[in-house]
Parts: sequence; C-alpha cells; structure tokens
Amino acid sequence: MANRAILLSLRAKTLLTCRHRTQTVKSTRDTAMPSHSPKLLDMIRELIATPSISSVSPELDQSNRAVIELLASWLDDLGFAVEIQSIPGHPDKFNLIAVLGTGPGGLVLAGHTDTVPYDENRWRHDPFGGQVDDGRLYGLGSADMKAFLAIAAEAASGFAAGALRQPLIILATADEESSMHGAQALVDAGRPRGRYAVIGEPTGLRPVRMHKGIMMESIRLAGRSGHSSDPALGVSALEGMHRVLAEILAWRQELQERYRNPLFAVPVPTLNLGYIHGGDNPNRICGECELGIDIRPLPGMVLEELRDALRQRLARLLADSRLQLSCQPLFQGIAAMETPAASAIVQAAEEFTGHAAGAAAFGTEAPYLQQLGMETVILGPGHIAQAHQPDEYLALDAVPPMLALLTRLIHRFCVQPQG
Ligand SMILES: [Zn+2]
Repeated sequence: MANRAILLSLRAKTLLTCRHRTQTVKSTRDTAMPSHSPKLLDMIRELIATPSISSVSPELDQSNRAVIELLASWLDDLGFAVEIQSIPGHPDKFNLIAVLGTGPGGLVLAGHTDTVPYDENRWRHDPFGGQVDDGRLYGLGSADMKAFLAIAAEAASGFAAGALRQPLIILATADEESSMHGAQALVDAGRPRGRYAVIGEPTGLRPVRMHKGIMMESIRLAGRSGHSSDPALGVSALEGMHRVLAEILAWRQELQERYRNPLFAVPVPTLNLGYIHGGDNPNRICGECELGIDIRPLPGMVLEELRDALRQRLARLLADSRLQLSCQPLFQGIAAMETPAASAIVQAAEEFTGHAAGAAAFGTEAPYLQQLGMETVILGPGHIAQAHQPDEYLALDAVPPMLALLTRLIHRFCVQPQG
C-alpha cells in the first residue's frame, strides 16, 4: 500500500518530536484499532476545558480565541501554514484556516469552535471537565463538535506536506451556534477554496448530504387605534392579521404541494406560526400586531425568493387596506443544502462508512462552504440527540472509526486525488 510507505517514512521523520503521530501510523494500519490514542483523548479534553460559548445574548457570549490558538499551535507543530482570520465587527471572534500542502482543490475538514450555553444546574458532570465515565466523554462541545477538530488534527498528523498532491485544509469557525458570522466572514473573504469538504457535525458516523434551511421572519402590521365603539375611528391591525394568517396558511399549502423530498423525515417544507402579539384592551381598536413565523425550506428553495414571495403576497392582500405592512427577517437565515449523490465526496463517505448518505434535520455551515465552491458532506462522531443537552457526551468507541475515516478521506482526496 502506497499509503503505508508514506506513513512509515513519515514515522521515521517525526519519531523524535511527536509521540501521537506514531500512534496514528499504527492505528491506520491496524484495522481492529484496539483503542484511541491517549494523546488524542487529552486533545479533546483540552478543547472541552477551553470555554467558547457563543450566544445572541451578550451576557453569555464568549470569545473563541483560546480554542483557535490551541488548534493553531497543534497544527503549526504538524507543519500546517496557519492563519487566524479576524471577523469584521466582532473583535473577539476568529476563524482558523490551516493548510498542509499547496495547490488548488483539496479537502477541507471543517468544524465550529463554539458551543451553545449550558444550564449548570442540570449537568451532573462538569461541562468543562472532560470526565470519562462508562466509555463516554462528558463535556460541553464533546459531540457538537470539539472532538471532531481534535480527531481531524490527529488524522492530519499521519501525513507530510510533501506527500500531498492536493492540500489538506483544517477549518475552524466562530459563532456557528449563534449568528454564522464566522462562516459569513469566510464567504466575504472568498476563502478557503477547496474542492471537497467534510463538516464533522454529530451524525453518528453516517454521511449526510442534505439539510433543510431555516428562516425566521417577523410580519408587522400597523393600523390606528381608536375607541372600540366606532370602527371608523381606527384601523384594526388584528383584523388585518387575521387575513394575513389565512394567506400564509394557503401559501404553506401551496409550498407543501409543490416541494417534496422523501429523504427527509418530514418530507415537505414546514411553516410554523410561532407567536402573535398585538393590542392591549378589549375596548380599543388594535393599532399594531406582530406575527413571528419559522420556515424550513427544502433544498432547491431559495431564502430570498421565499422572502420576496411572502412580501409580494401580503402586499397584494393588504393593498385595499389602510394597514402598513413590514416583513423583516429575525436573522439572516440558513440556506438549505444538497450535495449530489454522485459527488465524489458523497461516494467516498458512503464507501468508507457503509451507509447511504441521508438528510439531517439541523442546519450547518455547509451552504457557506458550497458558496465557496466546495462539495460538502456532513459526517462526524456523536449524535445530535446528545448535543445542546445537559451532560452532552461523546461515546469514545466512535473515535477510532472517525479517525480511520478521516485518514482514508485524506488519502483519497489529497494523496491520490482523481483528476
Ligand atoms: Zn454543531
């Protein structure tokens, strides 16, 4: 196996400096892989011990700098060209772009460095302790998704820059859990460019090639309040919203008849009426009313087109009223994503895992990487059911297969790229 020769020469080269590299060399050769490297476990625990909560609430939001610096130091030691990218307008948030090898194309292993906030009272384990209990590593970000970043670094340690015909890029982002500012900054900068990407979100070691998008929109109507005894004294925003609700439900029906994808557990786009606020007193004409909706579009549905369609529809509906309509996104939204089943990265992920690529119910940074030209698959250790929960954990038996998977993917797309 060519891979083995390269790895063996690498082992000779790195024997003096880095113990965990030789461990990787061994584990990639042994298909049984009796255990993960203790060094790798320490790396995962170090990332967990470094808080990096992101939140739209400023009192909970933290810098991710320490996590980025930890990863940067590991990857620098492994010979990567390491760049820490600052994020315009967010001085305490950073992305990391680390590149091994040169040239166009290549494979990107991507993960976010941030975690969601946690509720201390509901955790039985220290969220930053990395405690191992019954084969599970507990900690905030253990499954979602700090372990993946450590495993990616460990997998990379088995390769030397000179052995790569296309570059290997490890990408670590900021603020995925809150605002996607990190991913947006990458798109704005037009980097990194890779041919393929793996995002290591917790998918239980099964490849995912599509997910729905997420939109949350506010619809406000402004009329005029007045005494309830005479309707001519005001313009009721609440009655206007009654018409808006009927129109939105009809639109939902149309969307669900038009779009369907059987790979999703819920095969149609959803539209949820989340909240409504309006009015104050029974004896006053309601002057203002706001509705909040959540839309989960299928791949093929474009966020901006949906926003335009909603606005136009409601504007037409209310043209004969004296109500003022305003439609605003509550956040910029996450696009739906789909990578074709025929993509080489999907095919390789299916071949190496033995599972057909499916669909996820959660959003990721994949649409941003796609905008940068990468065909993207989502594939990582741990389960989404354990993410964003008290006592989040990663089952440690997922680590060796994930390490082996990434090693094979690096070999396929960087050492032996096909055209
Ligand atoms: Zn995540």
